[in-house]
Amino acid sequence: MVIPDEKIEEIARVIAKSSNLVAFSGAGVSAESEIPTFRDPGGLWDRYDPSQIATTGGLSSLAASRPNIVRQFLQEMLETFEKARPNPGHFALAELEKMGILRSVITQNIDNLHREAGNSYVIEVHGNIYRLRCMGCGEKYMRSREDFSRLLREFLSTPEDSGLADLISHLPKCEKCGNITRPDVVMFGEPVQDFDLAATGARNCDVMLVLGTSGVVYPAASVPVQAKQSGAEIIDINPTQSTFHNIADYIIIEKTGVALPIIVKRVKDIM
Ligand code: NAD
Repeated sequence: MVIPDEKIEEIARVIAKSSNLVAFSGAGVSAESEIPTFRDPGGLWDRYDPSQIATTGGLSSLAASRPNIVRQFLQEMLETFEKARPNPGHFALAELEKMGILRSVITQNIDNLHREAGNSYVIEVHGNIYRLRCMGCGEKYMRSREDFSRLLREFLSTPEDSGLADLISHLPKCEKCGNITRPDVVMFGEPVQDFDLAATGARNCDVMLVLGTSGVVYPAASVPVQAKQSGAEIIDINPTQSTFHNIADYIIIEKTGVALPIIVKRVKDIM
């Protein structure tokens, strides 16, 4: 799809004159890094039941009753995250931060790719897959991609019929209190993280880029609405219809990995 030049020009000007630009991103931003989205055809929810795999209760009973499904899911996670790298959309956002325009990225993604691309202020409302959180004292430990892969491989090397207790015994212990840790990601039904920071970012921005999100996961999906209600202009970029079209001032129907580099190049020319 070709984005009309006038539209690029118009949006680049809005961004260039913004004094507080914030990006709000979803799974679509990482689709071009080959991390499947949840709701697109072929996405995770086509193959796994979210009520089983993405809730703590569902996951525990699945690990106890059908550990092979949990293994298959973890194997898929390992293969996906091991090879995922930031794409041109992530790098374009990092460039906007370097230019002093983008203040923060509020992301629903857990993949760490905004940080890897170079964004330094990233609010991860659904957590980060490379971080472990102590289930006792709450201490957090950021791990490297290599550590994460090693941990998952160890997990997957337990005998096929091993139960939940065996799997849990492979989780690292907290260095402070000795309790077990777990990936610091938000499962369905759990509270989101740093939402006060996200809400403040939304209320204070004058322009918000809404990128690759279906807008159906709450409360995260309320972030662009809060920005709009506080007077921000909304720029929505998504290759398909987004629920944010009703509040968007500018809409680009395109992949973020295609549209963002073009827009950022134009912003640079203007500045
Ligand atoms: P979603 O799966 O509900 O929707 C994905 C959206 O991305 C759709 O609107 C789709 O049209 C759009 N999209 C697809 N390809 C795109 C591209 N190349 N460029 C731009 N947009 C594209 O995702 P969501 O709204 O983020 O909600 C799902 C939840 O699942 C999130 O809260 C997140 O925590 C989690 N999730 C995270 C990851 C990740 O970390 N990469 C991946 C899958 C799901």
